[in-house]
Amino acid sequence: MRTVTVLGATGSVGTSTLDLLERAPEQFRVLALTANCDVERLAAAAVRTRAARAVVADETCLPALRERLAGSGVAAAGGAKAVCEAAAMGADVTVAAIVGCAGLTPVMAAVGQGGIIALANKESLVSAGEVVTAAVARHGATLLPVDSEHSAIFQCLDPRHTKRVRRIVLTASGGPFRDRPREAMAAITPAEAVAHPNWSMGAKISVDSATMMNKGLELIEAFHLFPVAPDQLDVVVHRQSVIHSMVDYVDGSTIAQLGTPDMRTPIAVALAWPDRMETPGAPLDLATVGRLDFEAPDPIRFPALRLARHALEAGGARPAILNAANEIAVAAFLAGRIGFLEIAAIVEDTLERFDPAAPDTLDAVLEVDAEARAIASAGIRDERVKDRVF
Ligand code: NDP
Repeated sequence: MRTVTVLGATGSVGTSTLDLLERAPEQFRVLALTANCDVERLAAAAVRTRAARAVVADETCLPALRERLAGSGVAAAGGAKAVCEAAAMGADVTVAAIVGCAGLTPVMAAVGQGGIIALANKESLVSAGEVVTAAVARHGATLLPVDSEHSAIFQCLDPRHTKRVRRIVLTASGGPFRDRPREAMAAITPAEAVAHPNWSMGAKISVDSATMMNKGLELIEAFHLFPVAPDQLDVVVHRQSVIHSMVDYVDGSTIAQLGTPDMRTPIAVALAWPDRMETPGAPLDLATVGRLDFEAPDPIRFPALRLARHALEAGGARPAILNAANEIAVAAFLAGRIGFLEIAAIVEDTLERFDPAAPDTLDAVLEVDAEARAIASAGIRDERVKDRVF
């Protein structure tokens, strides 16, 4: 029996995680569930799973949560500190599925307890890769990837032969605009951008997939999770999302992990590790899939990938700035304040304007993150950033 805490339990990854936990009550006991403010979904899940505690990050939502949980036996709490306290309850597995850099401090709180961190929240590793991995080593914690590509690499990478790896290749679906000509990309709407062809995901990561910033964030995430240099990380567009990533060895062997695109598989890999558990997903039927296609990503139509690659190679504060500016730009795009092509322009502009020293503590990362957000927000109001798109 493993105890599990789910940070971001009301989101896409959180909901898939709860689905698995509820199917295997003899294997898992839920300690705490957190959300930002989706009281209805959080309270319902907490009651169903008999969680000890339910927490909303937004404290203004706490009265509603208290009311909803009255008499249920589930304790209610609110505020950013309460989320960290939930993360630090000492669960055997903490699933980190908050979206954005907001997940970083809770991830660090969970790491401080040792135990297994099943990490979906890639932004925390992008912004604070060195700080997080140093804390993992210091506290004897285990960081397991939930991102499907990194779960694939984790499964393909033989720990005995890490020095014999030539290259890691992350697959990318190419998102909903892989065939959209550049001239038509300025008019892309938020509704189109969140409609991913292969995966059902939260709004932010769906937009990241559409700009291919998601694959850029994943390159940086892979660098921190696996013992390879930046130039050993590559991306190939693979429309069917059947091969989730692969590892090339020096002897010419390529080991790939395949499966139907269902996040419950990589989540299950992390929840049950080092064992395996059953999932309700459809097994892969290659005869039905029929064909697997591959192509190189287009750097002209998807500049975000180039920006992320540069940030990875430069290191220091660059990935944290890239991530913060992207979060601001994506939120502005979803709110209808900027166009699709301006997302990468805002990120590039912020990277050009801000070049602080490498942050080496959690507080220093959060300072860089806050300053980059302020600069990106100013960029959204600046006509010059719009001009650089065309
Ligand atoms: P969603 O937007 O669906 O869910 C986000 C979750 O985080 C919700 O529970 C939300 O609560 C909570 N949350 C939002 N803001 C805050 C905050 N400021 N403080 C605390 N909690 C907050 O996101 P996804 O599930 O799609 O993605 C979660 C993470 O997993 C992301 O980092 C993403 O990149 C990564 N990921 C997602 C995949 C997917 O298939 N969705 C695949 C691989 C990685 P509320 O509901 O109350 O707003």
